[in-house]
Amino acid sequence: MQDASKHYINGQWVASIDGREMAVENPSTEQKIATITLGGVADADAAVAAAKAAFPAWAATDPLDRIAALERLMEVYKGQAEDMAQAISFEMGAPIALARTAQVGAGAGHLKNTIRTAKGFAFERPLGDHAPCDMILYEPVGVCALITPWNWPMNQVMLKVVPALAAGCTMVLKPAEQAPLSAVLLAEMIDAAGFPPGVFNLVNGDGAGVGAHLTAHPDVNMVSFTGSTRAGVAISKAAADTVKRVSLELGGKGANIIFADADEKAVTRGVRHCFNNSGQSCNAPTRMLVERSIYDHAIETARAVAEKTEVGPADIEGRQIGPVVSETQFNKIQYLIKRGIDEHATLIAGGLERPDGLNRGHFVRPTIFADVTPEMTIWKEEIFGPVLTMTPFDSEEEAIALANDTPYGLTNYVQTADKSRARRLARGLRSGMVEMNGKFGAPGTPFGGMKQSGTGREGGVWGLEEFLEVKAVTDWGRSWQRFF
Ligand code: ADP
Repeated sequence: MQDASKHYINGQWVASIDGREMAVENPSTEQKIATITLGGVADADAAVAAAKAAFPAWAATDPLDRIAALERLMEVYKGQAEDMAQAISFEMGAPIALARTAQVGAGAGHLKNTIRTAKGFAFERPLGDHAPCDMILYEPVGVCALITPWNWPMNQVMLKVVPALAAGCTMVLKPAEQAPLSAVLLAEMIDAAGFPPGVFNLVNGDGAGVGAHLTAHPDVNMVSFTGSTRAGVAISKAAADTVKRVSLELGGKGANIIFADADEKAVTRGVRHCFNNSGQSCNAPTRMLVERSIYDHAIETARAVAEKTEVGPADIEGRQIGPVVSETQFNKIQYLIKRGIDEHATLIAGGLERPDGLNRGHFVRPTIFADVTPEMTIWKEEIFGPVLTMTPFDSEEEAIALANDTPYGLTNYVQTADKSRARRLARGLRSGMVEMNGKFGAPGTPFGGMKQSGTGREGGVWGLEEFLEVKAVTDWGRSWQRFF
């Protein structure tokens, strides 16, 4: 792989102008695996200048040419899938099997699906049958700052970079400083796929440095951010002075509502889903709400699943869960587990400290608390670790009220055999997504949240439109037809 201490600006790998070194660590071993440069203001400025200069020509390209470039990228990405899996597994601790399948696969899926979406998108279309000479042009927003977290690196990077490229935007990607290696590899792939210089730029850096500078930069037209609600608030404020478009995908505290008529695997599936990727998913079903008649049984099932969940280093082939990404995250999770104990939730599995036999690495014990109530800290705060809470409910109304009792609104889950009830719940839950009976959304499903889970949607046609401006033109004439 390319020397990770360099930035990719204007089609070249360049040394930092004003950055400082940072060691990237393997969360399974706590050993240094690479050195990156946290860029400075001058690095960020150089990348924005390159993106700004490249914008007019790239924006004017035929969408079919942009799609062709993305198809080349798809081929390169497929050819280096194993390298990408290794990079992700190394940098953020996803077990290698998970990295090869879900982590790398998510990136490939978004590429494939965005290509399909762009092919079917009418970038120029009439206002409607009533006004055939009034034209609507979908045009790229401009220079975009794309800021991503470390938990699903290629998922989040691809959800931004690919639709931005398809739309005709130019961009500066600032990946999470904890997990920059996959983004460096992607930049190499974009280079190999032959995009014009300046269209895609990568600057490594931290939030306070490059991140904050990009989000306030007068030449950046849009910020697309995925990460914590804390950072999302800071970014919105920084972007306000120059009226940037801001798209935010933030935290979550998803409820998983399990009725007595749910299928027999519902509890097991819910626990495993919560622990997947060591609980580091914004859409994790972290609050399991269980109808009281099956609550005790559900606790026993959940305990058994937690006790059987293996925890171990990311390079071991298997279905274990890996470490969490950093010491900071480990400490935050430990603090929240301690709060759960101190506030008298019933600890039924896991708890404080590392699992037995693991003395190094940021490993967290798969933990479940029962009898969790809305006053408790572990009900309110996003934990971002393998920690599940369980709470009983007596009625459908109570289940909806409990699920909605959070500032977040990303994904909620419902397990029931009763379709009419499922639909009532789907309508009553305040979240951007509701998943029923273990069925994931199909490719092209809009991903995003209500309330403090964010603004905007990624994926599918919605994810493409995020990067497009709508221009209305009168007296265009009737020679408008141009479908792809
Ligand atoms: P934190 O862990 O500090 O709350 P996140 O996990 O939300 O931050 O970080 C996600 C991404 O956002 C990372 O790339 C990080 O560097 C970046 N980031 C953090 N804070 C800011 C900020 N104030 N402005 C811009 N980017 C930020």
